[in-house]
Amino acid sequence: MNSPKLFVLSSVAGGGKSTLIQKLRERHPEILFSISCTTRAPRPGDKEGVTYFFLTKEEFEKGIAESAFLEWALVHDQYYGTPLKFIEEAFANGSSVIMDIDVQGAKIIQEKLPGKIVTIFILPPSEEEWERRLRGRGTDSEESIAKRMKNGKLELERQNEFDYKIVNDDLEKALGELESIILSNSK
Ligand code: ADP
Ligand code: 5GP
Repeated sequence: MNSPKLFVLSSVAGGGKSTLIQKLRERHPEILFSISCTTRAPRPGDKEGVTYFFLTKEEFEKGIAESAFLEWALVHDQYYGTPLKFIEEAFANGSSVIMDIDVQGAKIIQEKLPGKIVTIFILPPSEEEWERRLRGRGTDSEESIAKRMKNGKLELERQNEFDYKIVNDDLEKALGELESIILSNSK
């Protein structure tokens, strides 16, 4: 891969971003994963420095003041941000990076790093299956599921702003589509 790119995956919560990224990296460990910072509480399965860097609100706001984030956003009332240094170092070393961020963050990055960004929106196959997967994950309260579905419906309205869309029905098929997008944009 001689032209490093930043592959930005967005979707509604429960769309399958984390699952697809994990599977893609098993096939392509050379693509680095950008670990975001967040103020939300760790969920079961989260690991400090693996899924996220978990910060206090004060620590996050210090990061904002020091321009430590390529972008940051308030998502579901919590701060989330992309550490700038990691992306700069990866590009300097010629490595591509994959990340999952919300729709507003994807838009900001697209404008900040034109020509280096490929944005991909992951769609659940139907509203029923989306809700089933969100519940099946077993990590969110009823209140949080309702909030995520309400926000998600607004995010779905912006799917056409992305370079590519993938319907995540059959996981292997969706993974194949993601892999082809990445390979065709890495030349
Ligand atoms: P996101 O990171 O977008 O919030 P996840 O990757 O956590 O979504 O996926 C939400 C849930 O749906 C998880 O329990 C995951 O195992 C499941 N899931 C993801 N993709 C598929 C698929 N293609 N078929 C069935 N279940 C899936
Ligand atoms: P979760 O709490 O379910 O892990 O993530 C909630 C939302 O925050 C998801 O849409 C996820 O893509 C988004 N997110 C994760 N990291 C970042 C980030 O660094 N910046 C932005 N803007 N959104 C992020």
